[in-house]
Amino acid sequence: MAWQKKILRVNLTEGTCTPEPLNMEWAAEYLGQRGLATKYYVEECDPQVDPLSPASKLIMATGPLTGTDASTGGRYSVITKGPLTGAIACSNSGGYFGAEMKFAGWDMIIFEGKADSPVYLFIENDEAELLSADEIWGKTTWDTEEWVHTRHQDPQIRVSSIGPAGENGVMYACIVNDLHRAAGRSGVGTVMGSKNLKAVAIRGTLGLNTIKDPARFMEATTAAKKVLVDNAVTGQGLPTYGTQVLMNVINEIGALWTRNHRDVQFEGAGKISGEAMHEPRATDGKPNLVTNAACFACTIACGRISQLDKNHFTVQNKPEYWGASGGLEYENAWSLGAATGTDDLEALTYANFLCNAYGMDPISFGTTLAAAMELNEIGALDDVDTGDDMVFGSAQALASLVESTCKSEGFGVELGLGSKRLCEKYGHPELSMSVKGQEFPAYDSRGIQGMGLAYATSNRGACHLRGYTVASEVLGIPVKTDPLATEGKAGLVKAFQDATAAFDSAGICIFTSFAWTLDDVAPQVDAACEGTWTLDSLAELGERVWNLERDFNLKAGLSGKDDTLPKRILTEPAKTGPAKGMVSKLGEMLPEYYQLRGWSEDGVPTDETRKRLGL
Ligand code: SF4
Repeated sequence: MAWQKKILRVNLTEGTCTPEPLNMEWAAEYLGQRGLATKYYVEECDPQVDPLSPASKLIMATGPLTGTDASTGGRYSVITKGPLTGAIACSNSGGYFGAEMKFAGWDMIIFEGKADSPVYLFIENDEAELLSADEIWGKTTWDTEEWVHTRHQDPQIRVSSIGPAGENGVMYACIVNDLHRAAGRSGVGTVMGSKNLKAVAIRGTLGLNTIKDPARFMEATTAAKKVLVDNAVTGQGLPTYGTQVLMNVINEIGALWTRNHRDVQFEGAGKISGEAMHEPRATDGKPNLVTNAACFACTIACGRISQLDKNHFTVQNKPEYWGASGGLEYENAWSLGAATGTDDLEALTYANFLCNAYGMDPISFGTTLAAAMELNEIGALDDVDTGDDMVFGSAQALASLVESTCKSEGFGVELGLGSKRLCEKYGHPELSMSVKGQEFPAYDSRGIQGMGLAYATSNRGACHLRGYTVASEVLGIPVKTDPLATEGKAGLVKAFQDATAAFDSAGICIFTSFAWTLDDVAPQVDAACEGTWTLDSLAELGERVWNLERDFNLKAGLSGKDDTLPKRILTEPAKTGPAKGMVSKLGEMLPEYYQLRGWSEDGVPTDETRKRLGL
């Protein structure tokens, strides 16, 4: 089985917690986590719903491999409608929380309504109750976790919570579990805050004994783990440098967008790279990186644990940030660093610590700050008090503005709007580097053409985790394609998007896809779950999930017109690097993509496509 076949429905308005059976017909079609929870959401919520109203819901969901010993099988996802985007939102997180939910006997928790006053959900196996969160409202995610452990006298309780950012309506607030793992994008933490739900605390001791064929499952997971160990990226690169292994690589190919996408290479990339994190600091002789770390059941261990120089200006009088905690991943190092033109590794680490503690997406924060810096530079903010001198490259401005945004103070309130709303407010919508309202991740699509199509068509707004063609276009996984070419990219993007939806629905980490294809995933799912699961059925499942999400977005008011990129990417050529002189050629790829998807010229799934996928 691998599912626990049980859902917890929590009505925050009524204060009730009610178990119900998992819909196994839907599980057979949507597997789990991203796919299955999206099915629940679209069946239960009006696509036009205000994401921050009590009528919207928030779903925390595991996959059938969550809590098993499949490598990286500790994932859970948060599904809702994104306040940042107005589109379907699905944010995925690692750590240990997802496995604990499964061990307590639950596949999914559905939150509906809104509590009168702050509450947290406490689950101990079959028992679930809503408790007052008055004492922890306003606390950081770090302090909340500590409070829960003390209050319940159990350090093994796993906690997912929002920080002040989610409470105060920062539009890209995230939900943090295990101190530094986060369901980060689209504002899922903002939705949690709008429901007065501070935290979910779970202790599960029931284990998971529902694997369909344990012997075959052990064989399949062992073989798959060997594939990860033998692969250069998952066996060496990620454990040693984390995702930060990419910083210098992406900079060299001219796709490290810098200073709000005005440049595609950052002169300070070496100073904020994975290699730099290993170097002893000139100030205290210690490296930024303390060790690597792994999520539940993970054999890759890409996580970074860092410690700041106590004398760095950001933390001189702040001992709460002197300990070792979650360090810079590539996306965060880039968004807080290259995007804002800042090359101070310690300042970036400090900003990242604050994003974790206060519950805020560092990708959207860094890129919104980058947009604000450009607005400031062109004089659009001349009449606004932005606090510190907000110029590209200022570590002081980064440090003070991350704090004011986390605490919703001063100009930080405006930064908390996200770049789209901010740039519209100050008369320059073209300076928001976003798609569907969500800020870009760390790859400039003038230098990696497939990523432009992947961003434009991503169902949750600009995102690297919906179709990571960087694997093929830059790293040659599974086959090398030319990053500057557009031919064949429509098919490549579709294949990555569908496969990713299947990985996300199974309960495993997408970083396994540096080494695994669905061919490696299928034997594991098939040995674990009822039914027959093959490469083809998983690929079709992924396509079904993609179209379900698309269908929701269309009903929510989005259309093919939203499958586009900012003017800068389409019209301003890259200034340096291998892509010098190039713009994104989205228009060459999009019609073919629609055709391959079985959509109309306007980007709407045809009746035939819907029928084929059982939608
Ligand atoms: S690869 Fe990294 S993010 Fe993925 S499960 Fe392992 S440690 Fe977590």
